[in-house]
Amino acid sequence: MAARRQLIAGNWKMNGLKADAGKLVGDLIQDVGKPGVVGCELLVCPPATLVSTVAGLLSGSAVVLGGQDCHAKASGAHTGDISAAMLRDAGATYAIVGHSERRTDHGESDGQVLAKAQAAQAAGLVAIVCIGETEAQYVAGQTLDVLARQIAGSVPASAKAATTVVAYEPVWAIGTGRTPTNDEIAAAHAHIRKELAKLTGEAAGIRLLYGGSVKPSNAAEILRLPDVDGALVGGASLNAADFAAIARACP
Ligand code: PEP
Repeated sequence: MAARRQLIAGNWKMNGLKADAGKLVGDLIQDVGKPGVVGCELLVCPPATLVSTVAGLLSGSAVVLGGQDCHAKASGAHTGDISAAMLRDAGATYAIVGHSERRTDHGESDGQVLAKAQAAQAAGLVAIVCIGETEAQYVAGQTLDVLARQIAGSVPASAKAATTVVAYEPVWAIGTGRTPTNDEIAAAHAHIRKELAKLTGEAAGIRLLYGGSVKPSNAAEILRLPDVDGALVGGASLNAADFAAIARACP
């Protein structure tokens, strides 16, 4: 098995107009986005309106592009939705699916997330499947059970290193400045890999990202934990210097 190359993924969420994207991407490329500057893979996931624009801005750089969601169907009467093939056509190679904000704001179930992941893969995108426990589940000591259930329900059994990334994002750590302890992150990631192995038969090559309040000051210690193969970064990905510092913290 080839070593897992770390992935630092930026989720811009519903932020950014064209001018913001030009500045953010320009600064990022200048800092760490030229080929060979950092060892990890760099990914940005702008809002759907900017995917095409950002594809142009990233041309010739080492930074790749993703969408934040896709519909489970390839096309059809789904007003306001975007298919995986449309993302691919606009220049994306990744799609986040099942982010907790989608699961909460849009009531997405594990089954719907699974269908979206399959649609992304069918269109030739790498699906970044997000899972993670709520604060109540964390406090009740249910984290590992929740993760096992979400993996069984929302990760395709056909998942391979080339088609799938799994992001562990405790819901209570997203945008709050709070994170689990390093031991808790390591335990969750080990558990995810074990559950993925049960589901797919071979999980050693699948990259597992930690997400939830990753910033320059905590990135190095988190990225060195066993089974952590990168980070999904929200707030700090909107600041080129912070995102670049996280990228430089990759071991
Ligand atoms: C996210 O939304 O995926 C995320 C991890 O956000 P933040 O880094 O702001 O906690």
